Formats: sequence, structure tokens, C-alpha cells
Amino acid sequence: MAGIDIEGLATVYPNGVRAVDGLDLHVADGEFFALLGPSGCGKTTLLRTIAGLESASEGTVRIDSVDVTRTEPGKRGVAMVFQDYALFPHMNVAENITYPLKVRRVAAATRAETAERTAGELSLNGLLERRPGQLSGGQQQRVALARAIASQGKVLLLDEPLSNLDARLRLEARTFLKKLQRDLGITTVFVTHDQAEALALADRIAVMESGKLRQLGTPREVFARPVNTFVANFIGSTPMNLLPGVVSSSGVSAAGGTLPAAASIPSGAEVTVGIRPEYLTLSTGDAIGPGLRGTVVVAENLGVQSLVSVDCDGTLIGVTVPEEQEPSVGKPVFLTAPPDRVLLYDRESGEL
Ligand code: ADP
Ligand code: MG
Repeated sequence: MAGIDIEGLATVYPNGVRAVDGLDLHVADGEFFALLGPSGCGKTTLLRTIAGLESASEGTVRIDSVDVTRTEPGKRGVAMVFQDYALFPHMNVAENITYPLKVRRVAAATRAETAERTAGELSLNGLLERRPGQLSGGQQQRVALARAIASQGKVLLLDEPLSNLDARLRLEARTFLKKLQRDLGITTVFVTHDQAEALALADRIAVMESGKLRQLGTPREVFARPVNTFVANFIGSTPMNLLPGVVSSSGVSAAGGTLPAAASIPSGAEVTVGIRPEYLTLSTGDAIGPGLRGTVVVAENLGVQSLVSVDCDGTLIGVTVPEEQEPSVGKPVFLTAPPDRVLLYDRESGEL
């Protein structure tokens, strides 16, 4: 098992695109680490640079404390699963799974035993003789994972491995993957553009934008306290409310009212106020303390919860409430939040 240490890493393509642009990152031994960011932010390039499939233009990559920056891919001890699985169509499942071992000239008997065992671990029993074209999408995905695991790399790199599965299967595969990673204890870097997937799976998350890391933390930290408005916008299944405000002596003025705020920012400062719909409370009775008055515009059913949009002085604010407390459209309501849930971002830079 092994950690990954990345220092000052940049990957520049021949056309001049700095897809990875000066990046420091430490992935701990045995950690399930998610790299999250919008399409084109450099996730695949970073993964391929760790694997050695792209060469680093600047900086270093260490795996298990060994500098592998100039080491060829096959000698880095990494196993990678590609977004499109990259299975060999003319080989059966057993041959696909053990291909990396064949390249290393591992004996046929050992390969057969590895195929059998890995297929068992990945619920592929009975499919060893089939070709990829005779498998479902979920099975193909598990064959790709099986091949990576059978190669016995020190680290596992997964590039959006669930994105080609339909919604239902993706949830099943997610749970399966989490359990498998925990059982194997293998250091894993998981790339995704799906924030829910990253929050659900990872021990820690790095949020990337334009080849740079914008925030690194546990799912809880990144969800509760995004360090800038880019991360705030990107994380959360219901979008964070971001509204212009001005700091006052009693909190922050926004949307025609005042919200409590814990930050020590001088009065008069122009900010962007960030509050998650999950952290706002909605009441229909008398207003107590600071908050925002508004009128219910629309309510969307999210299952056990409803997302209620409230018009507060011309600004629409989302708040989640238990389904049975969903107020009717047109009803006057009062919104408030605990001071530590009201985040204040610099209006110019978007930073906390
Ligand atoms: P992601 O995986 O986050 O979608 P990529 O790593 O694929 O992002 O791409 C990052 C940036 O690098 C994008 O601007 C993309 O157009 C560019 N890029 C990716 N691959 C190449 C390549 N082979 N040559 C030139 N530019 C590339
Ligand atoms: Mg990609």
C-alpha cells in the first residue's frame, strides 16, 4: 500500500493548454480520494499524469515515497480504470482480467486462479468465458475494475468509472465500489464530475477548476464550508443560495432583511451571502429575531423533503423543509439560519 505525493505538478499539452496548472496534493495510504470538478478542468489529465500516460511538464509525482515522475507507466505500480473501460473485445473476461499478469509473464495456472478469485470478489462468477460484448454495462465496468485489481498495483486510479451506467445501476455500483475499496484498503483516486458521487464515496475531496485545486477537505467540510463561490455553486444537490449583502452591526443585510452572521467583517463591507437551503428554517408564525420575510412562489417535492422557493424582496431563496411542512403557494413566511451557517464571501474575489 502506498500514498501519493504531488508537488508543483503541471501538465502542458503541445498546443499550449496547461491542463494541470501547478498542483500540490497528498493522498494518504489506503485513502479513498475523489477529484471533483466540471468537464475540462483537468481531472483526466491529472490522473493520466499520475499513471505516466502523460508526462509532467513541471513538478514531481511520488508513489510510496518513490519519485516516479520519469518512470514508465508499467513500472509505477498503478492500476487505472478508464471511463470507457478499454476492455479487449476479442478476449474473454478471464483473459481481460489477467492481461496485465500475462504481460508480466505470470504463469498460466496462477493467472487462472487470480481470474477465478477476482471474479468472485467482483460478482462476476460464471462469466469468465464471455466476451465483453456479451456483458451488461455494469458487468463490463466490474471487469475493468477486476483487471485493475488483479494487476496488484499499489494505487488504483479510476476515471469516472460509473458515468456510463444508468442512474439505478450507478447507485448500486457506487455502494459496491465503496465496500470493495474498504475491503481491499487500496489507495484510490476517483475522478468524477458528479458532486453527489464524490460526497458519498470519498474520505476526502479535492475540487478542481482550470487545472488548479480550489478546495481540499472531507465531504462534510466541503459541503458545509465551501471556501469560495465556485465550490459553493458546484457542491450540493440543491444549489446554495448566493445573494448580494452588506455587513451591518447586527449581521448582514440581504434580500430586504437581516441575517445573523458570525464572521468578523467590518460593517459596510459588500459581500455575497451563502446559505444552503438545508440550513435555513422556514416558519409561518410570528418572526423572532433577525431573518427574511417573503412569499412562497413554488415548492418542489424531493421525496421526504420539499424545496420551497421564497420570494424575499425580489430575490428567490431556496429552503428545504420536511414534506409534511410544505407551505402553500402565496403564503407569507419567515426565514432564518444559525449565524455559523451564514457564509460571507468577498463580493469581488468570491473567497471566504
Ligand atoms: P476533464 O477530465 O476534467 O474533463 P481533461 O483533463 O480531459 O479534463 O482536459 C483538460 C483540458 O485539457 C481541456 O481544456 C482539454 O480540452 C485539454 N486537453 C485534454 N486532452 C488534450 C490533448 N490530448 N491535447 C490537447 N489538449 C487536451
Ligand atoms: Mg475526463
